[in-house]
Amino acid sequence: MGVPTNSLHNQILELNAEAWRLTSRDRARAMELALEARQLAQTSVPPDMLGIVESLRTLGRVKLYAGEFDQALKYSLEGLVEAESAELEAPQAMLLNTISSSYRMLGNLPEALQIGLRQVALCKRLHDERGYARALTAIAIVYGDMGEHADGVVQLEKCLPIFREVKDDYWTAMTLNNLAFLSHKAGQTAYAIQRGQEALEAAQLLEGRRVEMVTRNSLAEMFLDGGESEKALQEVQAALRLTEAEHHPDLEVEIYYLQGLAFTHLARMDEAILALEKAIALAERLNATRSLYLAHKALSDVYKTQSRFELALAHFDCFHTYERALFAEENQKKLRNLEVMHKTQEAIREAERYAVQLHAEQEHRRLLETFNEQLEQEVSRQTEDLRRAYEKLERLDKTKSDFISVTAHELRTPVTVISGFSQMLKNSVPADLQPTLKPMVEGIRNGADRINDVVKTMLLMLKVDTHALNVLPEPINLGSVLSECAINLYTDVQQRKQKLALDYAGMNTLPEIQGDRDVLAVVFSNIIVNAIKYTPDGGQITIKGVVHPTLPARVPRAEEGIRVPVVEITIQDTGIGIAPENLEVIFEKFYRGESAMLHSSGKTSFKGGGPGLGLAIARGIVEAHHGRLWAESAGYDEVGLPGSVFHVLLPVRQ
Ligand code: ADP
Repeated sequence: MGVPTNSLHNQILELNAEAWRLTSRDRARAMELALEARQLAQTSVPPDMLGIVESLRTLGRVKLYAGEFDQALKYSLEGLVEAESAELEAPQAMLLNTISSSYRMLGNLPEALQIGLRQVALCKRLHDERGYARALTAIAIVYGDMGEHADGVVQLEKCLPIFREVKDDYWTAMTLNNLAFLSHKAGQTAYAIQRGQEALEAAQLLEGRRVEMVTRNSLAEMFLDGGESEKALQEVQAALRLTEAEHHPDLEVEIYYLQGLAFTHLARMDEAILALEKAIALAERLNATRSLYLAHKALSDVYKTQSRFELALAHFDCFHTYERALFAEENQKKLRNLEVMHKTQEAIREAERYAVQLHAEQEHRRLLETFNEQLEQEVSRQTEDLRRAYEKLERLDKTKSDFISVTAHELRTPVTVISGFSQMLKNSVPADLQPTLKPMVEGIRNGADRINDVVKTMLLMLKVDTHALNVLPEPINLGSVLSECAINLYTDVQQRKQKLALDYAGMNTLPEIQGDRDVLAVVFSNIIVNAIKYTPDGGQITIKGVVHPTLPARVPRAEEGIRVPVVEITIQDTGIGIAPENLEVIFEKFYRGESAMLHSSGKTSFKGGGPGLGLAIARGIVEAHHGRLWAESAGYDEVGLPGSVFHVLLPVRQ
């Protein structure tokens, strides 16, 4: 239930309270305030249900006081629906009170009674004494309207002690007055007058004088009926004196009318005429048909007793006109009541539809929540599976690394032994055996060297993998590193009848970079060896270098940034090229393209396979230097020979 912020809720309550205070003085303003309160309550997040109900209750009351009973009914019924849906019980009792009164004023007495009984039951359940007593009052008044005066008296006798008990002076006075009125109608005049006098005493304790006027009017009526015209006149005069201090035009009409009657009974005809004319003038202003009808009738009677028949006839005419008007008004009322009933039923149906929809929405939300929960469980289960799979992979990778590490370390010593002894053997071969034994010994020696290379590569890979590569930062001229590589590979290039073009002039203008010369030499030599391997005999390898003051956009992961300026070395070949989908895969450990042979006779023979570590190591080393290594190729084609370009990007020393 929404009471979003206390201050907002209080503001709503204050607006309603102010509307209440203004109800009898400035109805338009009271309406404005109550509507504003409702608006505030509706738009607050979440909606302030209590505020909405209270505002509707105020709106209903204001309309009831304004005599707009169908509107009063509309707002109060709306309030009741909201209060029921928000399970707010206390305001329901008061709403039922307004609803019952509205029905009564609209002439729907059975409904008014029904609602009154509902209010009684609710207040009893809530132990709301005052509400219970008010409900009884409402019922009593309805009984009175129905002509069941004695039943009304019974109800009022029940609620009188309650109002007295809770010291509700206003309702005590009103109940006594109602008791007087109903028992008078029920024919118990003496008792009625006694209650009327008690009512007067109670009314005099009140702050305002309205109740006293009402009571005096009732008493006057009773005295008139009882033939005690003098006493009646006294009450009327007292009431009139009260009007000097406090204006209540609706009551004044009644007072003048009663005064007229009293004077008539006392045969003070001129005064009677004066009083009745005043009553008529006032009633005309108020458009009070019933009073007009009564006053004209009384006046006509007065003129009749004076034998002023023309005037008597004129007022008799008026009296009939108003009687018809009254009849029409009452019919209108009944019609309107029917209309309201119809609308109310529609509103109830609408509310039921709304409730069904609400229920469906809640169900839908519940389903959605369950679904979400299941989804979350599924996601966390899958995440867990993934985590386990990842851990397993990590373990496998570790096992592989361990295996390589152990193998490489274990191979190193025997290879060194074989190398050493084969060297010794080569030197100690007798001259006559040289032609036959020397090539064999050299074969052993070369084999050992190859194993040694593989072992070194594996150990380097391990270092790259475990980030154990110690980059010694020294100023390096890449031109000299590259020429050294080119010279080392000169024989291989020649064997393959290839051309290696190194742009010496351009290289010499390159600024120095900072890094580890030995490992960078491995990078370039791996790339150049590949260029030789994957280019057919007679092909060309071109090596160039340039400086970029800013980072070119084509650099992979350029957004991650590299310190600029940078040197870019490109190693271009005219070989078989690389398929687009393999441009990144070739940098993975142990990847060997399908074109690579499983074994090769020499380290630079065409498509001669290696362990598939060369590029992985090269990239690891370049990245340890905060650079980038990537490949570009138009595709893989052993006939068309599109060639490949390998780019090495390294930051310039600063
Ligand atoms: P390998 O030991 O197989 O040469 P590398 O890591 O050096 O391992 O290279 C991985 C794979 O990349 C090679 O097997 C080959 O398929 C491909 N590759 C490398 N360089 C080139 C190149 N210049 N032209 C075409 N393919 C190449």
